[in-house]
Amino acid sequence: MLKIDNLQAKIGEKQILRGINLEVKAGEVHAIMGPNGSGKSTLASVLAGREDYEVTAGSVDFNGTDLLELAAEERAAEGVFLAFQYPVEIPGVSTTNFLKTAVNEIRKYRGEEPMDAVQFLKMFKQKMAYVNIDQSLLNRALNEGFSGGEKKKNEIFQMAVLEPKLAILDETDSGLDIDALRIVAEGVNKLKSPDNAVIVVTHYQRLLDYIVPDFVHVLYKGRIVKSGTKELALELEERGYDWIKAEVDAEE
Ligand code: ADP
Ligand code: MG
Ligand code: MG
Repeated sequence: MLKIDNLQAKIGEKQILRGINLEVKAGEVHAIMGPNGSGKSTLASVLAGREDYEVTAGSVDFNGTDLLELAAEERAAEGVFLAFQYPVEIPGVSTTNFLKTAVNEIRKYRGEEPMDAVQFLKMFKQKMAYVNIDQSLLNRALNEGFSGGEKKKNEIFQMAVLEPKLAILDETDSGLDIDALRIVAEGVNKLKSPDNAVIVVTHYQRLLDYIVPDFVHVLYKGRIVKSGTKELALELEERGYDWIKAEVDAEE
């Protein structure tokens, strides 16, 4: 599904990603961990096509398409979902209205007919029941005054509606409590299927108690310096990152 080859990116004059290699197949869940400032959020942003980052080398193939050639909206329409893409508060715009626009933009890109109000109502009802989210949350302005848990519920609902092939979740918020983490984990576990893949960026080993990743990667200084299975996440919880930093720094 996704093949990242020697991806390098900088912001301003600062080189942040220094050669990322990663392959993600359909049905897999990958966790990306690593110390603060190692480039995790940058990687997620570059994959989603956020501006401000300049890709200086490498390639990203997504189901045979050169992802780096596409604008952010086109990537979304190809099935890439970045959870923090819409964390902003949008005064006066409800989640449902926001999602109607997003869904129909995607359908337009794919050459499909727009959905009408009746179809949306039916689809939203199904998805609400499926991910167990309340109508009242969806009627409120997007993210305005949302608690951490409500933001996460909303994020999962967006995923349920947009049905991405590749979901990238960047769990940066250090204020997340265990309930919010559980909402994310339950949502991801429910929405994952043999046809889609998930990349979870996190520095919480705790999250991986609930979302069991197939692979765990450690990002440090803009490179994936170690990969393993969920056992690696457990080892990191026990030992921290210093031993990995020392290994990498010794080689430099
Ligand atoms: P992580 O998510 O692993 O904590 P980030 O990708 O957020 O790391 O950041 C990687 C590095 O890039 C850090 O050194 C950070 O200071 C720097 N960085 C991130 N965003 C910007 C920016 N907008 N301008 C300058 N430097 C940035
Ligand atoms: Mg950070
Ligand atoms: Mg980050």
